[in-house]
Amino acid sequence: MSKEKINKLLIGTNNKGKLLEIKNLLPKNIKIYSTSSFNLKSPVENGKTFKQNSLIKSKYFSKKTGLICMADDSGLEIDFLDKNPGVYSARWGGRHGDFNKAIKKVYRELNKKDKNWKNKKIRARFICALSISYLNKKIACVLGKIEGYISNEPRGKNGFGYDPIFIPLKKRKTFGEMKPSQKYKMDHRYQAFKKIKKFL
Ligand code: IMP
Repeated sequence: MSKEKINKLLIGTNNKGKLLEIKNLLPKNIKIYSTSSFNLKSPVENGKTFKQNSLIKSKYFSKKTGLICMADDSGLEIDFLDKNPGVYSARWGGRHGDFNKAIKKVYRELNKKDKNWKNKKIRARFICALSISYLNKKIACVLGKIEGYISNEPRGKNGFGYDPIFIPLKKRKTFGEMKPSQKYKMDHRYQAFKKIKKFL
């Protein structure tokens, strides 16, 4: 399977932001399918690591459709919060995936830990595990990262999730303030994609 060229690929995500970003990275000769055309719900992500959750998704969506599937699992690790929210990044937004709620929780937890946190550099990184599976078989699974820190307040309206509070190393703007095209060229999904593209 892995030796053959892939010409059809399902993107295993129900998140429109991620779908768009992954679509933009893929070679144009591959026909892309999205989960929305199959009306599929997402599986329960009960893995302990980003890689495990990514494989749960790519295998699940592949088995449901019979197509080779690429799926990601991603999130934000904050060192000062013992690497949380980590694999719980989506869940910090509550049942309805409210990103404002998730961001408020980050600031609440930082305040709980240290009232003076704004005077410190709060190191953080976005991580993305990207996998390709065919039915129950893993074809590839890689990890991409971008290092940075947490801003003292949310800034910018672009992107999604924790973008307004993440500043990449050596930059001043948050991901939320950057143009999507600038973010896409450096972020964790792009780093993971660079490693997985040889399997396509
Ligand atoms: P997943 O769909 O289980 O991978 O959830 C990942 C969660 O991590 C998302 O819901 C976001 O909260 C967060 N996340 C992942 N990638 C990004 C990003 O590029 N920007 C902002 N937040 C992200």
